[in-house]
Amino acid sequence: MSSPFLDRDFESIRSKAYALRHNYFDDMEKHLLTLENSLHDKGLNVVWIKDLDSLVETVQNQVNELQVNRIGFDTQHPLESHISGRFEKVALEVAEKSSDDLDLLVLDADFAVCDSGSLVFMDRKSACCFNKVKNMVVIVNIDQVISNKNDLSFFISLKNCSKDTDIPKDLKIIQHQLQYVQPSDSSYASDQMYTQEPMKITVVFYMNGIEGILSSESDILKESLYCINCGRCLEVCPAANATLNEEERFSPIELVKLNSLDSYNRTQHLFSHTTLCGACDCVCPVKIPLVKLLLFEMQVSNTVSKNSRAKQLFNIFRKRGNLNKFNNSFFRFFFVKRFLGKNKSLSRYFSGQNGDFFNITFEPPYEENPNEIIKNSDIE
Ligand code: SF4
Repeated sequence: MSSPFLDRDFESIRSKAYALRHNYFDDMEKHLLTLENSLHDKGLNVVWIKDLDSLVETVQNQVNELQVNRIGFDTQHPLESHISGRFEKVALEVAEKSSDDLDLLVLDADFAVCDSGSLVFMDRKSACCFNKVKNMVVIVNIDQVISNKNDLSFFISLKNCSKDTDIPKDLKIIQHQLQYVQPSDSSYASDQMYTQEPMKITVVFYMNGIEGILSSESDILKESLYCINCGRCLEVCPAANATLNEEERFSPIELVKLNSLDSYNRTQHLFSHTTLCGACDCVCPVKIPLVKLLLFEMQVSNTVSKNSRAKQLFNIFRKRGNLNKFNNSFFRFFFVKRFLGKNKSLSRYFSGQNGDFFNITFEPPYEENPNEIIKNSDIE
C-alpha cells in the first residue's frame, strides 16, 4: 500500500473513495443485512443499538450475566465510564503480559466488511488479547462499514494516510469464529493439555444517533457520514490547532456532526471554532465537502438560533467570497474583537495572520443573489 498523499493522482483517488462511500450509504440497509447474515453464519451474535443508553444497558447486562471479574476496554467510547460493577478493569498492555485471562473485552472496530463479514482492527492493543478472552463485545458504528472486501486495503491506506507509516503496524481481521483456549483441569502439570471452546462474540451495530442525519432530506448532511476518521482534517485545521485546550479543540467534521446531532446545543461551537479557511476540504481523502457542510449547518442553526452574534457571523461567512477584499489588519482587528473575542486562542491566531484567511471560494449550498454584497451592518 502506498500513501495516497504521495500519489500524484490524489484527486482521482478521493473521487473513487467518495463514490464508494456514496454507494454504501445509498443501499446501506441491504449491505448491513448482508453483514448481519455473514456474521450469524460465523456463529457471532448481532444486536442493533440505537443510542448510548441502550448500548450501556446491553454491555452492563453482559457484565452482570457473565459475572465478570476482569474486563478490558480498548475503545475511546464514552460507554466505558458508564459501566459499573465489582470487576477489575485491566489495561490491555497489562493483560497482554499477564497469565490471567480476561472475562470480557469491549472494543471498537475500525471497519466492518459486508460481503466477507470481516471485522477490522488497526493498531489496537486488544488484538494481543484475542486468545485470552472468553467473551467479546465489538462495537461497529454503522457508518464505518464498507460493502466490499476488495476495497478494504484501499480504505485502510486512506485511513492511515496521515501517519508516519502507511501500513498499520498491527492489523487484525476477524473472519471466523475465534476459539478461547484454556488449560484442561484433568491433565497433569507435567503434561499440560488444553481445551478450546468458541469465544462468545457479540457484535453491536451501533447507530450512534445518526438516524436523524440518515432520514434528513438534505443529501449534503449525509456526506458527513462518509468520514473514515483518518484525522487529517484536524491536523491541518488552523483554528483547531490554534486552540490548545483539548476540550475546545474540535475537528471540522466534529463541528458538523456535533451540531447536527445535538439540536439543543446548536451554534455553541460551530461559529467560534472555524474560519472556513477550507484547508480541510483540500486534504479529506474521501472528498467530504467540509466547508459546504459547515456553512450548511450554520444556515440551519441560523434559522433556529436566537443568538444574534451567530446570525451576524453567518451573514458574513455566507458571503465570504467577498471577504478577501476586506482582508487587511484593520478589518481583522474589528472582526476578531467583535466575533471571536471570547475564544482567546482563536483570536490570537487570527490577529497574528498576515496573509489571506478567507481565501477559498466555493458553490454555496443554497440560492444566493449574486449581486448581494456585504453590508456594513453585517460586520458591525
Ligand atoms: S472528514 Fe476529516 S477525519 Fe473524516 S475522512 Fe475527511 S479528513 Fe478524515
